[in-house]
Amino acid sequence: MLTFATMLTGNIEVLRDGLSRPRKIVVTTHQKPDGDAMGSSLAMYHYLISKGHQVTVVTPTDYPEFLKWMPGNDKVVIYEQKKMPAEKAVQEADIIFCLDFNALHRIQPIDGLVGDALSYKILIDHHLEPEDFTDLRFWDIKASSTCELTYDFIHLLEETPGLSIDCCSCLYTGLLTDTGNFTNGATTAKAMKLAAQLLENGIDFMEIQEKLFNNNSESRMRFIGNSLLNRMVIVPEIETAYITVNKEDGRQFNLQPGDTEGLVNYGLGIKGIKLSILIKEEPGIIKLSFRSKGDLNVNEFARQHFNGGGHKNAAGGKSNEKLDVVIKKIVDLLKLSKARKKI
Ligand code: 5GP
Ligand code: MN
Repeated sequence: MLTFATMLTGNIEVLRDGLSRPRKIVVTTHQKPDGDAMGSSLAMYHYLISKGHQVTVVTPTDYPEFLKWMPGNDKVVIYEQKKMPAEKAVQEADIIFCLDFNALHRIQPIDGLVGDALSYKILIDHHLEPEDFTDLRFWDIKASSTCELTYDFIHLLEETPGLSIDCCSCLYTGLLTDTGNFTNGATTAKAMKLAAQLLENGIDFMEIQEKLFNNNSESRMRFIGNSLLNRMVIVPEIETAYITVNKEDGRQFNLQPGDTEGLVNYGLGIKGIKLSILIKEEPGIIKLSFRSKGDLNVNEFARQHFNGGGHKNAAGGKSNEKLDVVIKKIVDLLKLSKARKKI
């Protein structure tokens, strides 16, 4: 299943040997985990417990309700809610799997805890330019999802791992969410083949689809309607749509973690729009989500101007400035870069 672009650095034999007897293992993933982060972490959890290890999934922060149906969810330790058990698990771990993030700062506030841990560490990820903080690294920016890489990595460890349906359901979740239901640029032939394989392994894909996408609160649906009707601005000359979410929206629609998930994609549904941005006012910070089409590299834009990053067509960032200042900065930068290209 390995593609030529998948990079493995470090000696996998050390890990194989390390896993040959029951170990204490932590699986961790990025802050505000999404479907791929939780899917890959819980898939790895299921695989490792099936091999007799003691496994704790530690997330830095909480994650959306629509991901909490996943098998193994009740075993997840959320650091911001249970600091002591999370710290104990990390400090006692023989091995730490770092999934779906490329730099330690992406797991704040447990970056120091994980960075300082003396455990053997493995990174499995598909983001650009990973930092060198693990003993082993399995990495491919062309992979649809960390779930796809997790599937490959498990098969690298052992040819016939006999993955449980629970494990496969978690893998399918990340595959589905990171490819936007097999619609965005991350959708490769390999991703579809893996989906077929997971279906053959017995997952109930209709049930997963239902739990992930047809499980909204009424207030979330009304919030999306309000965002599209009253908060979306189109700037035709830069082929951009942006949606703002301010504090008042948060209160009016009782916004919960994950309620803004996917909202950024709507802009790209408009004819002629190549860049869609979600600008969200959070306590003390503005969070940005970028989605683009074609060669428009939002990873670079987010890195250069908004202390962020991600992938070429999907990236995030942040700013400490005020909402209107951030909007003006984005529009001005884009207009400038558009003007420059014409020269
Ligand atoms: P989203 O817009 O869904 O929050 O994130 C899109 C992509 O950008 C994801 O792959 C995510 O990991 C990455 N990303 C989001 N926010 C940040 C950030 O602040 N820093 C970096 N380096 N990547 C981010
Ligand atoms: Mn991912």
